Amino acid sequence: MTILQNGTLVLPEGPARADLAFDAGKIRAIAPSIAPKEGDSVRDVSGCLVFPGFIDGHTHLDMESAVTVTADDFASGTRAAVCGGTTTVLDFATQDRGGTLQQALDAWHKKADGKCSCNYGFHMAITDWNESVKAELPAMFEQGVTSFKAYMAYDALKLDDAALLDVLCALRPFGGILGVHCENGALVNALCAREKARGNLGPAAHPASRPPEVEAEAVSRLCYLGKLADAPVHVVHLSSAAGLAEVRKARAQGVRVYAETCPQYLVLDDSLYRLPGFEGAKYVMSPPLRSRADRDALRRAVEDGEIDTISTDHCSYRFDGQKTIGLHDFTAIPNGGPGIEHRPEIIYTSFVHPGRLSPAAMCRLLAENPARLFGLYPRKGVLAAGSDADITVWDPAATSVITAKEQQQNVDYTPYEGFALHGMPAAVYVNGVLAAEYGRPTGAVAGEYCKR
Ligand SMILES: [Zn+2]
Repeated sequence: MTILQNGTLVLPEGPARADLAFDAGKIRAIAPSIAPKEGDSVRDVSGCLVFPGFIDGHTHLDMESAVTVTADDFASGTRAAVCGGTTTVLDFATQDRGGTLQQALDAWHKKADGKCSCNYGFHMAITDWNESVKAELPAMFEQGVTSFKAYMAYDALKLDDAALLDVLCALRPFGGILGVHCENGALVNALCAREKARGNLGPAAHPASRPPEVEAEAVSRLCYLGKLADAPVHVVHLSSAAGLAEVRKARAQGVRVYAETCPQYLVLDDSLYRLPGFEGAKYVMSPPLRSRADRDALRRAVEDGEIDTISTDHCSYRFDGQKTIGLHDFTAIPNGGPGIEHRPEIIYTSFVHPGRLSPAAMCRLLAENPARLFGLYPRKGVLAAGSDADITVWDPAATSVITAKEQQQNVDYTPYEGFALHGMPAAVYVNGVLAAEYGRPTGAVAGEYCKR
């Protein structure tokens, strides 16, 4: 048995001073005081908050595109995740057009199995919807996949509205949830062509090619599809005030809409695209960073409880050699940025440290809500006897600074270079195994597949 003594446990009903004991990968007891027996190991966590391990519901590890592959694979990505306090990631297995869902699931297991420092599960991204793919759904649920993804943009990935409606209807009897990349793909294509025709070829053209209206229209359309299907919908990486307004409108009509946003939309803004030279390419992701007004609207929505989850959309590409593929054409810049390592510290620093959010609210956004939404609760997402021993011991007094040089992510930059942090994970346990201490991995590869 390992006993964490004298910590402040972040429980659903609020913080509580208590001891917590775990062994064999499970939390065994929570009590005001737990006396160690012979052979037990004790860690004094006085002054620390003890959270259920954080869950990142949106990562892209070892993902191939037509021209390149993400810089982080499941080994480096999950190692970085645990160093920041994340104990479970949900990555996107992605169907090939003409391929089956089973082939995609098998391929992602091959990428991940045996390599992960944290636990992992897969959403299934459907890119080619037809009767035989529909017939695979029961097999997906049997193999622990309860959440799916569809794209409204990207020609190689997107589904049309009729297919989206049918997917929503097909998932409903299983209680599955569909996450959707909400951007109007036809408009994105047209606006990219417009920028290029105007001779705008640098990173600054990227946000111009995907303005908030492109997101808001797609969010609105998805919500109507959810209403038609009488099914819940999940808006991933919500980035704009206009998109948020559509979420509110749909909720007011009784549509079940879950909203995810990401740290980059809460602490960065589109002025970064105007950095000199090609620097702006570091922030080329879709949706793009938005104005300060958008950022502030999303921050208020986080504080007001309108946002359900904060995930990273970690999709890392090196600046040298990968982002530079688009040196002369912004549409060729690989879309995405790193973030899997720093999400809890950024949210703690930006919201909890200044008193904008309570530790319990942070716990809901980063652990409890994703666990509930994606079929992991109460095995994960809560500190309770019987739950998995995924535990993040948080030292609120520790300080550090994010730098590319010090990070674990396998990439040569970070969008948060120089960001001063308050609070960091002092100890991170994955299935009861110590995986990281103060931002450094222990080398343990204790992650297991989460059958949901
Ligand atoms: Zn994504």
